[in-house]
Amino acid sequence: MQLADIGANLTHAAFRDDLDAVLARARDAGIAAIVVTGTTLEESRRAAALAQAHPGLLHATAGVHPHHARECGPETIPALRALVAQPGVVAVGECGLDFNRNYSPHPDQEQWFVAQLELACELEKPLFLHSRDAHPRFAAILRAHRDRLPRAVAHCFTGEREELRAYLALDLYIGITGWICDERRGTHLLELVREIPRDRLLLETDAPYLTPRDLRPQPRARRNEPAFLPHIARRVAQALGRPAGEIAAETARNARELFAL
Ligand SMILES: [Zn+2]
Repeated sequence: MQLADIGANLTHAAFRDDLDAVLARARDAGIAAIVVTGTTLEESRRAAALAQAHPGLLHATAGVHPHHARECGPETIPALRALVAQPGVVAVGECGLDFNRNYSPHPDQEQWFVAQLELACELEKPLFLHSRDAHPRFAAILRAHRDRLPRAVAHCFTGEREELRAYLALDLYIGITGWICDERRGTHLLELVREIPRDRLLLETDAPYLTPRDLRPQPRARRNEPAFLPHIARRVAQALGRPAGEIAAETARNARELFAL
């Protein structure tokens, strides 16, 4: 199986002590490419450094997560513009709206989502998008930029049918995580994933978060890592009634196309 993990938070403290072992396990599991998520300026700088230290395997995004929108200022966009020009940085994001936790006020979230969206439009760079409990506002903002929108992924899709259809109408790629393995809150995705066109489906772990609940044995400290992506691929394949190898190859091809890897 050859897979691409399009969202892994490898700059997270959970990976500080054993990242090399995590990357070795990922390679052994058939993970050919990992996109390291940038969530703040500092984390984006570290993600870029990781990508440059492991060319070919690791790539990075540069952006500010809506949780951190309140920390943005006049330096944010120039700093992101410089980061996006660095080797190994393949997308603007993660950016978007999160009305679930509300760590930043909504006006700040919208302001810095739009600013990063416009940066991606200007640079014609792909977008790595986050939306949680923010539909339909999130879709409305994207629609307002529709004619200039670069390729983009709605990462960690956990929403309902109407939300999925709105994103597909915007031609977004859809990132599916181990949420689909969660018997408490993810079973609706087993059906919805069938509505995603073959050339729009992507897989991601969102490591160290969202460890698949049905993974046996559960990892130490329940830390998720890219090596668990084949487990998610098999669950998606089962839901689609197709061979896991085909899903792996298709989603890896989609990742290469989206991020120009
Ligand atoms: Zn996210």
